[in-house]
Amino acid sequence: MYYETAEKLLAFIRKSPTAFHAVDTMRKTLADQGFQELSEKDYWKLTPGGRYMVTRNNSALIAFSIPEDAPRRFHIMASHSDSPTFKIKENPEITVEKAYVKLNVEKYGGMLMSPWFDRPLSVAGRVIVSEGGEIREKLIDIDRDLLMIPSLAIHMNREVNSGYSYNPQKDLLPLYGTAGTEETFSKTLAEAAGVREEEILSHDLFLYSRTRGAVWGAEKEFISAGRLDDLQCAFASMEGLLSGEKKKSIAVHCVMDNEEVGSGTKQGAASTFLKDTLLRINSGLGRTYEEYLMSLADSFMISADNAHALHPNYTDMADPVNRPLLNKGIVIKYNANQKYCTDAVSAARFKELCNRAEVPYQTFVNRSDMAGGSTLGNISNTQVPVNTVDIGLPQLAMHSPYETAGVKDTLSLVKAAELFFE
Ligand code: ZN
Repeated sequence: MYYETAEKLLAFIRKSPTAFHAVDTMRKTLADQGFQELSEKDYWKLTPGGRYMVTRNNSALIAFSIPEDAPRRFHIMASHSDSPTFKIKENPEITVEKAYVKLNVEKYGGMLMSPWFDRPLSVAGRVIVSEGGEIREKLIDIDRDLLMIPSLAIHMNREVNSGYSYNPQKDLLPLYGTAGTEETFSKTLAEAAGVREEEILSHDLFLYSRTRGAVWGAEKEFISAGRLDDLQCAFASMEGLLSGEKKKSIAVHCVMDNEEVGSGTKQGAASTFLKDTLLRINSGLGRTYEEYLMSLADSFMISADNAHALHPNYTDMADPVNRPLLNKGIVIKYNANQKYCTDAVSAARFKELCNRAEVPYQTFVNRSDMAGGSTLGNISNTQVPVNTVDIGLPQLAMHSPYETAGVKDTLSLVKAAELFFE
């Protein structure tokens, strides 16, 4: 069963090279399952028993399912659609010595840089075009091996294996073609978008690794792919939403953008997107603001973003006691300084949920001398104050373009999400 889920996850990731594509993939899957798309621009007419979704910026999505007897409380699971990568800059083509064309890119988020070298890359995202006087947004994925960032040979830097400080403006610019090529980058974009070059007004385009996801290991116990952080959680949350009955709470599947750059955008966890949506669900069901506040006090959120597993080569980097392992279940994340908003109450509720769903759980705390990362939960809580647990699936190589996790763990989170949303 868990292999089937793992293969489904890899198919989802393959269709989702950027946040825009992840939202588009979810939108199509949810629409196929009867979710009706709402627009933030329109009035919302909601009915008990209805299933709906809404997007913002086409890079964040909230889907919700209202049970027949329309209970007040929300059960929310939040994850994120973006991953660290490189964004294509304006006027990206740089010609080198009348020999090469490379592309000008800048960092998006905090990535591991070395794994971006010497592997086929491509470009995906959105272009904005003017068609017949109208501005239209087009999703594009140049679905072929298009770019490469070649390493400098060892002979030209003998010291490189003793540590190297990457300069993103010098070292990380991908090679695109030979100088004078007729297949200019804007022509390639126009072809992918199905428009004329001069119709393209602007773009949000990102690099992605072409390396296919794989299940591997002595007993096929590992799964590797790009963007496991955090599409593994987004996928599990969506699968949980799509299965099982909805009875005791309004199930809310929430996938935010821009987590990797601090969440402070209109479509990020610090925005009002979740709050606005919950308020509109509340008013759409004919309820007062006071009833909204009452419902929040009775609601629960799972902030789902991947966690660090114990690394086989760096066991000293883990806390002495709380050492998550691949394939050993969902990780509950704790931090005294509230980078993770898990507290004793939310942890207890989540453990109970895992016990009832019959899935394993484990715990993560940073070493006391390491700062660690942050995530969605505490940022979202400033807009939507509900009791929240921070969790994730254990993984290695976080923020590499090719990350590794346990093949069994996705199914554990799907099962927990399914029960949570009931
Ligand atoms: Zn993440």
